[in-house]
Amino acid sequence: MTQSLHLHGKRGVDLLHDPLLNKGTAFTDAERDALGLRGLVPPYVNTQEQQLMRVYESYKRKADDLEKYIYLVSLQERNEALFYRLILEHLEEMMPIIYTPTVGLACQRYGHIFRRPRGLYITRKDKGRIRAILQNWPHDDVRVIVITDGERILGLGDLGANGMGIPVGKLSLYTACAGVPPAQCLPVMLDVGTNNQSLLDDPLYIGTPQPRLRGPEFDALVEEFVTSVQEMFPKACIQFEDFGNSNAFRLLHEYRHRVCTFNDDIQGTAGVTLSGLLSSERITGHALADERVLFLGAGEAGIGIGDLIVSAMMSAGVAEDVARRNCWFVDSKGLVVRSRTDLAEHKLRFAHDHAPAATLLEAIEIVKPTALIGVSGMPQTFTEDVVRAMGRLNARPVIFALSNPTSKAECTAEQAYTWTDGRAVFASGSPFAPVTLNGTTHVPGQGNNSYIFPGVGLGVLASEASRVTDEMFYVAAKTLSSMVTDGDVALGRVYPDLNRIREVSAAIAVAVAEVAFARGLTRLARPQDLATLVQATVYHPQYRDYV
Ligand code: NAD
Repeated sequence: MTQSLHLHGKRGVDLLHDPLLNKGTAFTDAERDALGLRGLVPPYVNTQEQQLMRVYESYKRKADDLEKYIYLVSLQERNEALFYRLILEHLEEMMPIIYTPTVGLACQRYGHIFRRPRGLYITRKDKGRIRAILQNWPHDDVRVIVITDGERILGLGDLGANGMGIPVGKLSLYTACAGVPPAQCLPVMLDVGTNNQSLLDDPLYIGTPQPRLRGPEFDALVEEFVTSVQEMFPKACIQFEDFGNSNAFRLLHEYRHRVCTFNDDIQGTAGVTLSGLLSSERITGHALADERVLFLGAGEAGIGIGDLIVSAMMSAGVAEDVARRNCWFVDSKGLVVRSRTDLAEHKLRFAHDHAPAATLLEAIEIVKPTALIGVSGMPQTFTEDVVRAMGRLNARPVIFALSNPTSKAECTAEQAYTWTDGRAVFASGSPFAPVTLNGTTHVPGQGNNSYIFPGVGLGVLASEASRVTDEMFYVAAKTLSSMVTDGDVALGRVYPDLNRIREVSAAIAVAVAEVAFARGLTRLARPQDLATLVQATVYHPQYRDYV
């Protein structure tokens, strides 16, 4: 069983200092005697529940979110099981601390709040010795790697090596939300420099204080990393995270058919958004094939969502060219149309034959969308006119304002509901509180990628899949949508309660594993029951007896 813990001969202080094995004051009397711990911990033997009371109390006492983040990271460094128990018991409260938005603030301050290293750092100086660096990692059955080069951290831009907070935080979510065992997770920072002058000038910056590496040398470093991973951790899935837009598309294109890899900013976002759209159809009564989707923003998120919607429509029997014409984009220069000469490669497949249009409002009148999706990073761009136009064209307009953090959302939940007299089906990237309008309460959905990537990762891990395919994200989206209850729909909510995340992730993992077996993407023999296969992989943060 992957989660069985071996003490590797560890005793005494070594045991207390190993966060994967440490139980602190919860070591039993028998363990204290057998493992050389007698006298090294206070006499009272706590239960994990008592320890939880203590750490939650300490957490609550922290004055601000950054202090809470620092507290949780240091708990993780001491005692992983207790850390994950705490997170799981207070998921909704702590997810915004260990991940966005607080992790963004932590990355900005990373060099100043740094205490202990976590994960692996690879720099341009390591060309030719990346395999040796991977050998330094203390665990040999690595299954999920999250790697970033820190160029586009959340909506915060280039944070260089400070971006390490992102792979660390993301992998915590793999474990918390899906139960991917922590010993099988590896965070990696590919430190290729930074163009952020304030970091270059900061004496406490933790990375290489040089301008960013680009071009063939950058590509060669990534290539060496990927091939070294294949040799050292052949069952690992590599998730590229928060790379700049042009590298993200290029790397995905380069590696997706060669190794087990995906990009959450592109494909995970697509999965969660498609799921929201599918759920919205229980309210709007639309069929997927009849949706016309207009995007504000044609970057990693927007194009990723567009591509997955096209795949989903094709699965519903729509021809590819028709499906593509159901997805339109507006970027910072206006409607994406074929006659434009300034379009980046990734936008070309959605550049339709049409006269240009400069504004979002004009684009709405042209496209007459059933759904409007904001992934521009530009706050308040869904103006009253825009939202009212959507309301005029649709009985139940679908409006997803996905830009993060909250301050970047294209409109607020209250605006979307108010300007459509409560008819909007609204979701956002960052959470918004419910809105009561004329006596009716509307609950906005949160299109959080954490609904998708942990389950996909768990499914890939359990099935030992050799590739991560679009079909896996499609089935993940459908599974997530199927878990939205009638009660959720009645409140206007297009995602399930976040507190059901482990159940959701397990169901997604089963669906993903099913694809791996059906498409011959694994060498494992298909077991009768995939749910049992998945459950056997899941990490539970309760303590086990060592003696
Ligand atoms: P990106 O940089 O790859 O793309 C941004 C796009 O927006 C570009 O095409 C750019 O041309 C366009 N844009 C910029 N200004 C614009 C304007 N004034 N009008 C129209 N378009 C404009 O970034 P990304 O990774 O695609 O992320 C975009 C946003 O989506 C971010 O705010 C991010 O937080 C959010 N996002 C949300 C989720 C989620 O909610 N699950 C997931 C991923 C990304």
